[in-house]
Order: sequence, then structure tokens, then C-alpha cells
Amino acid sequence: MNNDIEQVLYTQTQIDNRMDEIANQLTEKYQGQCPLIVSVMTGAVVFTVEMIKRLKFKLNLDYVDVSSYADGTQSAGKVKLVQDLSSNIDGRPVIIMEDIIDTGHTLKYLADLLKGRGAKSIEICALLDKPDRREVDVEADYVGFKVPNKFIVGYGLDYRGLYRNLPYIGILKRSVYEN
Ligand code: 5GP
Ligand code: MG
Ligand code: MG
Repeated sequence: MNNDIEQVLYTQTQIDNRMDEIANQLTEKYQGQCPLIVSVMTGAVVFTVEMIKRLKFKLNLDYVDVSSYADGTQSAGKVKLVQDLSSNIDGRPVIIMEDIIDTGHTLKYLADLLKGRGAKSIEICALLDKPDRREVDVEADYVGFKVPNKFIVGYGLDYRGLYRNLPYIGILKRSVYEN
């Protein structure tokens, strides 16, 4: 698996340290509230699990599944809700946890959807941000790391379902997906 990685961008230790920082910010902000954490399947699962263990306030956890990437490495631009929340969010603070913001279509769609359902507030917490590729105006309130315009895997991020279990964030070799 490691042979398929061109370059490690962030090691497990670097990720851990950055998550501690973000968790402290969130803990300060949400103390005394009970937000709903909305994890975007499947890419954000590792990030979400590692993050919520660090949060020192009451929270609920739910998830949605959306699809924008058909199968490969290019965005389809269209977002589809594959699995909805099971919680009512009316009047509740919501924190969306996402693996990476690329074109921004996914988060724009989700934020608009949840706003329309009467969330009290919505914040976005993304492990990674690829700002070069943005097509719609959406920004995360908390970002782990900025990444270059390359195809990233690891720490929950996949290529065709693989590499999610890598404990670091890296660039996938082009030879893996180009032939
Ligand atoms: P957006 O809607 O912002 O273009 O895309 C968001 C989704 O596309 C992410 O949640 C992620 O699933 C996928 N994605 C975007 N860039 C990458 C990348 O570099 N690597 C992987 N594995 N997925 C990506
Ligand atoms: Mg995703
Ligand atoms: Mg994916």
C-alpha cells in the first residue's frame, strides 16, 4: 500500500497535533451547547472519530452520505444525497465534519440543505482544504491542513474504496489511476 504513495504530506503525529488545536477551539466555542455533529460518509469517518474523542462538551453524532465523485479522481459537480440524517436539526447548532473541500459543491449543498431545515447555526470543520479547485463560494470554519491540487488519500480518504486506513495523509501516485 505504501508503495502507491508518491509523498507523505502529513504524518500521524502532525495530524494528532493539529486535531488537538482544532478540538480546543471547538471546546471553547461549544461549551454549554449540545451541537449535532454531522459526519459526511465515508471519507470523514476517521477524522470524525478521532476528533470527537477530543471534544469536551455534550454532543450528538449523526451522519449523511452524499456522492459527488462517481468513481475516479474527478468531481462530477453534481451532489446527491445517498443517506439522510436520522436526527431533527430544527433549532440546533450543527457542525459538519468533512474530509476535504475540493470544488466546494458538496459542502454548499449540505450547508444549504441543513440551513433550510432550521439549524440554529452551521459550522464546517474539514480535515483538508484544496483551495485551488474551488468552484463555489464555501469556506470551512476550521481546517486541518491545506493541500496542493493533487489526488490525496489516507486518513479516511480513498481511491476506489482503498487507502482509507493509511494513518497519514499522502499523494497517490498517478500511475495508480492512470494507464
Ligand atoms: P467537492 O464537492 O468539494 O468537490 O468534493 C468533495 C468530495 O470529493 C470530498 O468529500 C471527497 O470525498 C472527494 N475528494 C475531493 N478531492 C479529493 C482528493 O484529493 N482525494 C480523495 N480521496 N477524495 C477527494
Ligand atoms: Mg467526502
Ligand atoms: Mg471518495
